[in-house]
Amino acid sequence: MKRVYNFSAGPAVLPEPVLQQAAAEMLDYQGSGMSVMEMSHRSKVYQKIIDEAEADLRTLLKVPSNYKILFLQGGGTTQFAMVAMNLMTTGVADYIITGQWAKKAFQEAKIYGTPNVIASSEDKNFSEIPDLKNLQYTPEASYVFMCENNTIFGTKFKEYPDTKGKILVNDASSCFLSEPLDVTKFGLIFAGAQKNVGPAGVTIVIIREDLLEISPRDYTPTLLKYKIHADHGSMYNTPPAYAIYICGLVFKYLLNLGGLEAVKANNEKKAAILYDYLDTSKLFKGSVKKSSRSLMNVCFRTNSPELDVAFIEGAKKAGFSNLAGHRSTGGMRASIYNSMPLAGVQALVDYMKEFEAEHLK
Ligand code: PMP
Repeated sequence: MKRVYNFSAGPAVLPEPVLQQAAAEMLDYQGSGMSVMEMSHRSKVYQKIIDEAEADLRTLLKVPSNYKILFLQGGGTTQFAMVAMNLMTTGVADYIITGQWAKKAFQEAKIYGTPNVIASSEDKNFSEIPDLKNLQYTPEASYVFMCENNTIFGTKFKEYPDTKGKILVNDASSCFLSEPLDVTKFGLIFAGAQKNVGPAGVTIVIIREDLLEISPRDYTPTLLKYKIHADHGSMYNTPPAYAIYICGLVFKYLLNLGGLEAVKANNEKKAAILYDYLDTSKLFKGSVKKSSRSLMNVCFRTNSPELDVAFIEGAKKAGFSNLAGHRSTGGMRASIYNSMPLAGVQALVDYMKEFEAEHLK
């Protein structure tokens, strides 16, 4: 068996001990005589799996008791619609546009109302987070939407907008569980699992309980109402049962590592190795403003698209997978989520140094 260093932006690398445990439990989960994949979600044994997953996530993220944790389906993209259908009661909401995903959320909200763009870094090709100091909120806006970590462009909010009491909604898909997060700053946080948390197919939503009392648009499908899921413990219908089980193993793994402070310290170390090199390299350049750099998605390029392609191909042969930038941006992107080992980042930088020496001769 040979595992590569996998820099995919998602689905992405998972902790090896979790994969091993899942493999060991594949045919017979803890004496049940069946795989978690084959189990009724209404069984006692499965109820324990989902309950523990929720409790462990609550501990990890210090989720206060007035917030519900939901395990849903449909990915981040379904949240773009659910947020608008459930929360845009005035027909107006404010969006901070920091990349493709925030833009997609904004476009989706247009189906259900009249969202406003209150800040955007599109004119800078999304290479930075806009200044959050003097945002002009629309008085009747039902909520303010932000995307904390911009997977495609490699930027991240370092502080949160002060929304003066308006509900703040956070698409935290690509930085979720990479560091502590102050849940109380938000009315709703959502994250597709397929980056730091588990397999694709489950989306985690953390929602403040008072938001569950807001009446969704009357045309909202049952399955797209937050309250339905909250009232049924994420089991109104069959949940993504196996994916939740894997997330649960990841939560335990992260708790055993020492929790999110320890995870953050490790992520900062890894990102520094790559950014420090990018800052000194004569061939590779980081694509974003320093103060907006993501710890998870590191975007960079050489001085020519042809050399970028040569680098990505050479890296693949050397055992570094998925280094191509998003199809809309080109260049390179190394996604260094929680489970990318420090040795993987170091090996990548060593390879970049070799490539640089070779091509700057
Ligand atoms: N938001 C962000 C920040 C993302 O990175 C992604 C996907 N990479 C999405 C939303 C969309 O998620 P999904 O593909 O699960 O619908």
